[in-house]
Amino acid sequence: MRADFDALAAIGATAAGGVDRRSLGSAHLEARGWFLERARSAGLETRVDPAGNHSAVFGADGPTLLLGSHLDSVPDGGRFDGALGVVSALHVLLAVQASGLELPVTLEAIDFTDEEGTLVGLLGSEALTGALTMEALRAPRGGRDALEAGLERAGLKEEELAAARRDPGSLAGYLELHIEQGPILERAHRQIGVVTSIVGARSFSLAFSGRAGHAGTTPMTERRDAGLAAAAFAVAVEEVVRRDFPSCVATVGDIRLEPGAFNVVPGVARLALEFRSSDLQELDSLEVALLARARAEVTRRRVALEIEPVGRWEPTSLDQEICDAIEAAADGLRLSSVRLHSGAGHDAQALAAITPAGMVFVPSVEGLSHDPGELTHWDDCVNGANVLLEAALALAAARA
Ligand SMILES: [Zn+2]
Repeated sequence: MRADFDALAAIGATAAGGVDRRSLGSAHLEARGWFLERARSAGLETRVDPAGNHSAVFGADGPTLLLGSHLDSVPDGGRFDGALGVVSALHVLLAVQASGLELPVTLEAIDFTDEEGTLVGLLGSEALTGALTMEALRAPRGGRDALEAGLERAGLKEEELAAARRDPGSLAGYLELHIEQGPILERAHRQIGVVTSIVGARSFSLAFSGRAGHAGTTPMTERRDAGLAAAAFAVAVEEVVRRDFPSCVATVGDIRLEPGAFNVVPGVARLALEFRSSDLQELDSLEVALLARARAEVTRRRVALEIEPVGRWEPTSLDQEICDAIEAAADGLRLSSVRLHSGAGHDAQALAAITPAGMVFVPSVEGLSHDPGELTHWDDCVNGANVLLEAALALAAARA
């Protein structure tokens, strides 16, 4: 497993020690090719569905127990996010194959397309569950041009993505091993996290339009500076969340000014806004409060505002029986565990809508993730993979 993990980490490796495998870019496609080849060379059947989800399959009888994660990364990301889950899923299949066990389920290790949202976010898993909407494809987070180019590179057709949909009756459940990406396990000195729920998130593209002008001759009192509207809004986002929504998080992750020059007052400012909560009503209230705050800049700065929703993922509870199975697996392996909530989005969130879904977390050193310095100690990776295997065997037995 270590050799496979290292082989994957070398694909799209960055000088800083991480990986850059943006969804459907060349390094990501190379990693996916490596995964299929590795599975084939071990004698597993392989599949690629119409949404580009890549799978290795073992066992031909019974409903399918999906084990998965993703091989794409954020720009300048880490080696563990997603990749650990895919390599571990593959090794669960290899372990069962090697043992000669005959299970009443088919095991499928799956690498979902575009989990990270460089293009759309949960693209492959939502196509599989039937939740992928035309709206999400029309106004994707990464923009239409990037989506079209990515699909073209991967040989995928937009009109065929929805054909990846699976019949819920064909599935026995979904399990995912992932790094925690936060500090809870490390601080609590626990080896395994049993994920009970996953945060909901919404993202919006905002564009403030004012009037570009000469930076030397346009008096301060006569400006309609879109850049100032964006800057004031970004600061206000933090104020609103910290004051009124202390259990939520919100981020302005990108601001682009046009035309973008030392000597021109910005005529247009485009912002990427994202916010998250584990509570649906709170998510609704936060949306109202933040968008109202953006509209306040319209009168204050005499600018126009366009708001476009570009992503929506609901807060999700994971399956109780699977939580119990993961906890029992950790106990059986004499590993300490704790139940926790995930503040990061995952493919399990999509899968939970159509089949019992569960997640295993392993500790992230200093809680660091989406960063080249992302690290999970190898012993913890192996612990997580063993819990994944034991939980998969328990669920398979329960479905006999
Ligand atoms: Zn991930």
